[in-house]
Amino acid sequence: MSEGKIVGIDLGTTNSVIAVVSGGVPEIIHNSEGGRTTPSVVSYVAGADGEVLVGEPARRAMVTNPEKTFAHVKREMGTDWRAHVEGRDLTPQEIAARILMKLKRDAEEYLGHPVSRAVITVPAYFNDAQRTATKEAGEIAGFSVERIVNEPTAAALSYGFEKSEEETIAVFDFGGGTFDITILEVSEGLFEVVSTNGDTHLGGKDIDDLVADWLNDSFVRDHNVDLREDKAAWARILEASEKAKMELSTTNKADIALPYLAQGEDNKPLHLQKSLNKAQFEKIADSVLDRLVVPCKEAIKDANLDKKDIDKVILVGGSTRIPRVREIVERLFGQAPQKTVNPDEVVAEGAAIQGGILSNDLDRDIVLVDVTPLTLGIETMGGIRTVMIKRNSSIPTEHTEMFSTAANNQPQVDVHVLQGERDMAVDNTTLGKFSLMGIPPAPRGMPQIEVSFKIDANGILNVSAADKKTGKKQEIKITATTSLSKEEVEKKKAEAEAHAEEDKKRRESAETHNNLDSTIYQVEKVLSENEEKVPEDAKSAVNDALAKAKEALEGDDPKEKKKALENLTEESMKIGQAIYEAEASESAEADDGSVPEGDEIIEGEDTEVPDPDPPVKGDEEG
Ligand code: AMP
Repeated sequence: MSEGKIVGIDLGTTNSVIAVVSGGVPEIIHNSEGGRTTPSVVSYVAGADGEVLVGEPARRAMVTNPEKTFAHVKREMGTDWRAHVEGRDLTPQEIAARILMKLKRDAEEYLGHPVSRAVITVPAYFNDAQRTATKEAGEIAGFSVERIVNEPTAAALSYGFEKSEEETIAVFDFGGGTFDITILEVSEGLFEVVSTNGDTHLGGKDIDDLVADWLNDSFVRDHNVDLREDKAAWARILEASEKAKMELSTTNKADIALPYLAQGEDNKPLHLQKSLNKAQFEKIADSVLDRLVVPCKEAIKDANLDKKDIDKVILVGGSTRIPRVREIVERLFGQAPQKTVNPDEVVAEGAAIQGGILSNDLDRDIVLVDVTPLTLGIETMGGIRTVMIKRNSSIPTEHTEMFSTAANNQPQVDVHVLQGERDMAVDNTTLGKFSLMGIPPAPRGMPQIEVSFKIDANGILNVSAADKKTGKKQEIKITATTSLSKEEVEKKKAEAEAHAEEDKKRRESAETHNNLDSTIYQVEKVLSENEEKVPEDAKSAVNDALAKAKEALEGDDPKEKKKALENLTEESMKIGQAIYEAEASESAEADDGSVPEGDEIIEGEDTEVPDPDPPVKGDEEG
């Protein structure tokens, strides 16, 4: 029975922690060095496939073997970043797998039995590629990954596990490489995430970099030697910077002494000796810390709440130990954060609780409702992004919508899957592309292409497209092929806000173009099929409107297009009326109540014209 236990792993940027539910409560598993946390560092001692050091010994190798030692790989998950080790390229997930393997081994030793199932946490703000890469890392390490859980959700689970009152809580998670803010409603075993926001490239590491720059600047001034060019020296500077930063969380001054850091003229050894006080440190760190504000405000806004509605703020991640960060939290939420949780261990504990829920090792009913952090959609005609699943939707979730072709006899549709908050396709991140081929020849708008988006409980997306007529289906699991450049997610979000008005105009103009195009097509079709039922004067008016519409369609004046569309719609209604009257008198004559053949199709198509979702943009004819 105990072998079926599911461990919970917080795979951190800086440190990782593993826990398991034992006797109904989460327990942190000690590593083989006796520590409760394991540095997320891997050092390849003898090539990519040879001996590796993981954890504390690897962290020490940062200085002695910097070329083959890797820290902070979490920041590269889901990107095409590669580590080069003696002629081999290693993916971020292969390196992360080494960390997970050590945790697995240590857990097996600690517990005395094999461990094969795990729940692994990720920042809530991780995109699809990053989640998939994390899952792959677990699988490479030999785990069956039972669930990917968002870190803040795990933290809330641990915090609220033994509480019964109803509360709205904010989890402020500021670690080594990422920042997440998540708002949850917790009541009697139900944990419901209401909004989430963050920055996948904002963490304590950014502060270390700034302190290191500050030290280097002074070294350059004193000795005219730039330490950035010396990998080993830079590793020492970074280590000292982080240490100074951590000291300044509890003291007012940190002394930094790095003897024999470089060589000057005549091979004279150069030492670095500086002290950094708290005020200086805060000045240096502020440009990083300022970036915490906007995501918090957005999360509160997206939850439709006011800061007074937040009952508790829980801090997670080592960087929340910085007093300045606590001040920022107090200012943003109007209250001091909770002091009862251990920011380093709370996430792994929550992951272990989730593991306990999945393996039925907990005799308590707990339901976890999480959300997807970014809007998902597809590109449709005219470069428009059509939303399939809105950000902050509860997961698992799915959405299916019918699309069609944009041209007559179009043989395939291309499905371009997008993630982001912008109205036009090009401004969002591409998650993947695929084509549904072999659509039988048919007039545009006729084929029914059913597109489905499905997000599982891990936040991983599956997209499929099926032709209803042939039953042909294509699907993709979005995998880690996209490379998110640094700060891309946040940049895109900021851009979305800045461009909201402009996007709306572009979208409307593309929509008008599409509507005009399809209205021309529909009207011509109706006209040709009902030639004899339309009086001459109505026919010439509609032909006139058609000519103007075609001319407007060729041009690029949105106002002209809109005018032409209104005019054409009006004229087409007149012919619709005429056709209807002609049919009414025909059927009165026949008096058998039957509807003439062909009408059903036209009716169906007529209702399609104002359809707000334009057809999938596919290959143009020929
Ligand atoms: P995590 O990703 O949660 O493991 O957090 C690691 C980050 O927290 C690293 O950037 C550490 O430098 C930082 N950190 C850990 N302890 C402290 C501390 N006492 N004061 C400031 N930063 C800290």
